[in-house]
Amino acid sequence: MQFYSLNKKAPNVSYAEAVVKGLAPDRGLYFPENITPLPTSFFENIEKMDNIDIAYEAIKQFVGDEIPEANLRDILADVLSFEFPVVPITDNIATLELFHGPTMAFKDVGARFMARSLEYFNRNNDGHVTVLVATSGDTGGAVARGFLGVKGVDVVILYPNGAVSDIQERQLTTLGKNIKALRVDGVFDDCQEMVKTAFLDESITSERALTSANSINVARWLPQLFYFLFAYKQTKKLGKDLVFSVPSGNFGNICAGIVANKLGLPVKQFIASVNVNDTVVNYLNTGKYEPKPSKATISNAMDVGNPSNFIRIQQLFDNNFEDLKKNFSSVSFNDEQTREAMKEIKAANGYVADPHGAVGYLGLKDYKLSDNEYGIFLETAHPVKFSDIVEETLNTKVAIPEQIKSVLDKEKVFQSISEYKELKQYLLDETDYKN
Ligand SMILES: *Cc1c(COP(=O)(O)O)cnc(C)c1O
Repeated sequence: MQFYSLNKKAPNVSYAEAVVKGLAPDRGLYFPENITPLPTSFFENIEKMDNIDIAYEAIKQFVGDEIPEANLRDILADVLSFEFPVVPITDNIATLELFHGPTMAFKDVGARFMARSLEYFNRNNDGHVTVLVATSGDTGGAVARGFLGVKGVDVVILYPNGAVSDIQERQLTTLGKNIKALRVDGVFDDCQEMVKTAFLDESITSERALTSANSINVARWLPQLFYFLFAYKQTKKLGKDLVFSVPSGNFGNICAGIVANKLGLPVKQFIASVNVNDTVVNYLNTGKYEPKPSKATISNAMDVGNPSNFIRIQQLFDNNFEDLKKNFSSVSFNDEQTREAMKEIKAANGYVADPHGAVGYLGLKDYKLSDNEYGIFLETAHPVKFSDIVEETLNTKVAIPEQIKSVLDKEKVFQSISEYKELKQYLLDETDYKN
């Protein structure tokens, strides 16, 4: 499979090159040249297939022959070594829990798939890649864990001082080895800006092979389509039309869901549920795409004012505004509504949702499901990741799972920076030379 740049001013590349580069040289996002639907027998038999087979069939056309079948299956077995259960909340609403991975964030799957892909491509040489990533919380932890000990890769994570939770900070500052954390005096947008500047800075890129591990990287983005197939596998027997509500920030997850739909997965509606960062909601209302600075909310992993994957969603609908609006909608909720939703979900069946999942739930409530529809909201993080908000809103204690306990007593190791030139110095001094 070849990938092309959405800016259309760069050569097409293989899956391997797309993963190593992250972003095309013309600053465009990579996009698959074609998406071939899976045979109908795949969907007819899906409930009898195991998750690895489902994932293999769905991803193989994108990876092509660059990773042989046996290796790709091994990678998938490693990446998908936990559950993705659909848990009913009310008669017609359920949640798809995506937080059973090692860092309890849905980004574990994409981060691990990208790490294992890079590891495979690096297997026979001493090439060296520096993965540079800005995080508002969960990306950093998932990437840190996914890449820990991966040969030939250094990871540098930038995070905003005071804007990530204690658990999140520990997940990205306590691993050591090839994982380095930089605490930035600023907000997430400042971190993101520094990362973007570094990618464009030839005095760095001539010395270091840099790549990103944000969802702009195809290896982070595409594996997320598995979630939607796993949800279908579990709910097909209900015989209802599925409506997915996806708590969205950079719109990578929901975009992967639409790819699953293009592969043939029957989906009635995709709802991109957002917090007050409502750039896409406004776009759907007015036809004008006007990015804005992000605003801080209690669902902070979705505090994004210029969602990087939205351009891919537009491409999936051939940039046709009317087609896009047929099965895709977006709706925004504030923190007060989010807290009310957390209470409502708990009152419905005792379920404790995190603020991101709660925003997803609100999207389904707003949509008003018909009798023949079944709504699934994605629970993108375990409530313990946002335990301050969950505990104060629901007046309950969130028990700390084993995966999280292991980082709590470890010492945080990071370097503080406040300006771009410090990042540059760090990259030139602290990471290994490009071969
Ligand atoms: C990253 C993240 C999101 C947003 O996902 P996108 O793919 O960026 O839209 C939602 N919830 C949580 C907990 C996240 O970490």
